[in-house]
Formats: sequence, C-alpha cells, structure tokens
Amino acid sequence: MNTNQEGWFSGGDSSCRPEQPVAAHPCRLVLLGPPGVGKGTQAELLCRQLRACHLSTGELFRAAKRNGASSPMMQEALDTMQRGQLVSDEMVVSMVRERTQCLRCCGGFLLDGFPRTVSQAEELSRMMEELGVTLDAAVSYELPLEEIVDRLSGRRTCPSCQSVYHVTANPPVVEDQCDHCQSRLMQRDDDRPEAIRVRMEAYQSETEPLIDFYEQAGLLQRIEASGSPQEILAKTLRLLKERGVSEQCLTG
Ligand code: AMP
Repeated sequence: MNTNQEGWFSGGDSSCRPEQPVAAHPCRLVLLGPPGVGKGTQAELLCRQLRACHLSTGELFRAAKRNGASSPMMQEALDTMQRGQLVSDEMVVSMVRERTQCLRCCGGFLLDGFPRTVSQAEELSRMMEELGVTLDAAVSYELPLEEIVDRLSGRRTCPSCQSVYHVTANPPVVEDQCDHCQSRLMQRDDDRPEAIRVRMEAYQSETEPLIDFYEQAGLLQRIEASGSPQEILAKTLRLLKERGVSEQCLTG
C-alpha cells in the first residue's frame, strides 16, 4: 500500500512508489455502499491485505477543507459536501482525471466513494479503457437503514490523524480523545442528523443504480456488512477469492 498516497493527494504528475513487492496481478476494486456502512474501514483493511492503494474522493475534499479551498469551485464543492449533497459529476470526474496515474499504478487500487453516479461509473469505465486496465470487482456493502443511521451519528473522527471511532461500538480509551495522537475527536459536519438524511437520499437516488450497473457488467459482489470489521474483511476476502480475484492479487 502507498501509505503516503502522494500521487492521489497531489494529483498531476506526482507519483509515489508502491510498496515492494507489488502483487503479481494488481487488484482493482470499486467499493460501493451507503454512507456509514463501514466502507472506509474495509478499504483500509483490504488495502493492507491486497497491497493496493486506498483512493477516496471524500478524503480529497476533506484534505482541501483542512488546507483551505484552492478555488471558488472547490469552495462551492466544500459547501455542497457540508450540506450532505453530492458534488457535481463534472468536478469529481475532473479531479479523478487529474489522477489517472493512480488508476494505472502497478500496485492496484481500491476506489472508495467514486463512482457515485451512473455517469461517473461510465466515465470511470472510459478512463480505464483508455489506460488499458480492467476492474476486478465492484464490492457492495449492505446493511439495514436503522443500523446505518446509528453508525453515522455515533461516528467520531480525529482531525489530526484521521482515525475513526464510534461512541459505543469502538470508543477511544479516554472519552473524546484520539488514542493515537491525543487530539480532541470531532463529529464530521456531514455526520450530523440533518446532513445524514440528505446523504441517504442522495445515495438512494444517485448511487443505488450503480448496483445494477455493475451487476449487468458481471462485476458485482454483494456483502452483508454486519459483524466486526475483521469479520467483514474475512467475508470480503473469502467472497473475492471465490470469484478468483484475491488469489490472483495475492499470488498472481
Ligand atoms: P465520503 O467520504 O465518500 O462519504 O464523501 C464525503 C462527501 O464528499 C460526500 O457526501 C460528497 O459531498 C462528496 N463526494 C465524495 N465523493 C464524491 C463523488 N464521487 N461524487 C460526488 N460527491 C462526492
């Protein structure tokens, strides 16, 4: 895994050297699932296992927020994100297009949060075709709505090292304090109840159709996302292996 994710965060020509040895067959996955289903946690666990890079478009926006929006267009995107709405396809696609070196990286990738609309998925297919690379699977994590709302409203994140906690399921040792760097934990603006509702609506109307899109492409792998993060990881690896994906990625 490229722990610094330099290429993804800087864009343009900057690139990072994948950890050695890279997998004989780089694993290229899209992770789907409603906000709060645990996609980000699974992405990190899977990346370590598959030695691929975690590419999150949401993290690009959060990094822009920490560093100060670089343009009026980015400021507009950050305002949109704060309301829980989706940023325009045009803006997100152009950000990913600036980072195509990450899509063709010999270390492989796990896309988390992109694509989020059918139009973004079509654009991703076009980009990958241009680069001569193919997707191994689209993993869709699924959970009942009530459980998702509970997970999201209890989520707390560290503004310094980005560690993620949950007030009941995964609390820090000291209340409201990061175990790793002792910073004060925060609730993401878009994890507040009013924004959660908007995000769930956006997911249902814009992102759920992607499940059909990838099913028709023969790439969909559904996963019931209940249990501990380690249990969900084990289930994901087993199902990917049954499709012949992770075995290729790990041993090629
Ligand atoms: P995430 O961390 O993936 O939940 O993303 C956080 C927020 O960033 C989303 O609620 C959107 O406002 C914005 N965002 C991230 N990725 C996308 C995308 N592919 N399309 C549109 N908006 C996005």
